Amino acid sequence: MYTTFNSWLAERVIDIKENNLYRELNVMNSWPKPKVDMNGKKKIVFSSNNYLGLATDERLINAAESTGRKFGVGSSGSRLTTGNSSWHEKLEDRIASFKQTEASLLFSSGYLANVGVLSSLPESEDIILSDELNHASIIDGCRLSKAKTIIYKHVDLQDLENKLKETKIYDRRFIVTDSVFSMDGNIAPLDKIIALAKAYHAYVIVDDAHGTGILGENGRGACEYFGVKPDVVIGTLSKAIGTEGGFVAGSYILQDFLINQARTFIFQTAIPPSVCAASYEAINIIEVDQRMRESLMLKVNIIRNRLQALGYKVKGNKTPIIPVIIGEAKKALWFSNKLKEHDIFAPAIRPPTVKEGESRIRLTVTAEHSYDDIDRLIQAFETIRKEQEVTK
Ligand code: PMP
Repeated sequence: MYTTFNSWLAERVIDIKENNLYRELNVMNSWPKPKVDMNGKKKIVFSSNNYLGLATDERLINAAESTGRKFGVGSSGSRLTTGNSSWHEKLEDRIASFKQTEASLLFSSGYLANVGVLSSLPESEDIILSDELNHASIIDGCRLSKAKTIIYKHVDLQDLENKLKETKIYDRRFIVTDSVFSMDGNIAPLDKIIALAKAYHAYVIVDDAHGTGILGENGRGACEYFGVKPDVVIGTLSKAIGTEGGFVAGSYILQDFLINQARTFIFQTAIPPSVCAASYEAINIIEVDQRMRESLMLKVNIIRNRLQALGYKVKGNKTPIIPVIIGEAKKALWFSNKLKEHDIFAPAIRPPTVKEGESRIRLTVTAEHSYDDIDRLIQAFETIRKEQEVTK
């Protein structure tokens, strides 16, 4: 039976609501600091990716402002037409030296970097082996690829090895993994994955979105942490670096190939030069300032330990992502709303982002959170736990 376009959509939205999977936008009326004005109310945010607080750092703002005055606020075209500035190339060289690779290539976001690599690199006669909890942009890149994709169990080296054995007839195999899993906060065993890849002659692509600026002695990311060199490293400027954009780091020939073949590079307007200048400044700061990372990890460990002491099931390790497992989507939503009553913002993560029955509150910590913010968070979790026990 024919229904009008909008009533058909309204029915679909009702369905989403009935399944407790409805999502709403929040409006921030202040800078992305831990204490924000959200929807007109003061909240302490525990869900930002601005891990080191660089998004509001004066040095980055000054760099963006002075470059913006010279180059304007938009890049005006794709890198292959009029959008390539000296700042793009300067930042790419800086990312390469930071990541200790020959070269790097900027994309407009980490999402588009993943999609660009996976849709262009593996060919129709190749195979991709992808961790089951990889980020949506990896999944979408695999869907766009002409190669077949096989999913291996989350960080399960035995399953990965079995799949490498089963796919020996393929000349080219690509293992793709997040370095830090965005919804679980755990770190992939890159050293072991790369050893397996070497033994079975496979290539390795690592998405280091959440590791960049956080892991490793100099904040270079998961590859520095493990002392490994995958074939392709993907990253984003939008998390610890505090700005916007994505990148691929690797060999000169990889850069050359992607410039010519990655559709999300070719057909996208370049990020503004001012954003490149701010990102450049951020990398300079990250490389020399260890204190930011140390202060962040101290806070991460305090929160993790205190939540566990309260009896919460906490996932992940050694990263600023602290997922607290709640269970059903409805319960996670209720929990997130309860936190709001305590002026804490931390979203409920529900299917399809995570598995059915594994809905969670995903906390992220930043170097800017104060110890008072942390106390308030823990007090809120403690009070909610007591309330739950009373209503059981
Ligand atoms: N990879 C991972 C693991 C991520 O968590 C994200 C962002 N949520 C991305 C890629 C995409 O990065 P961007 O936000 O720069 O598009």
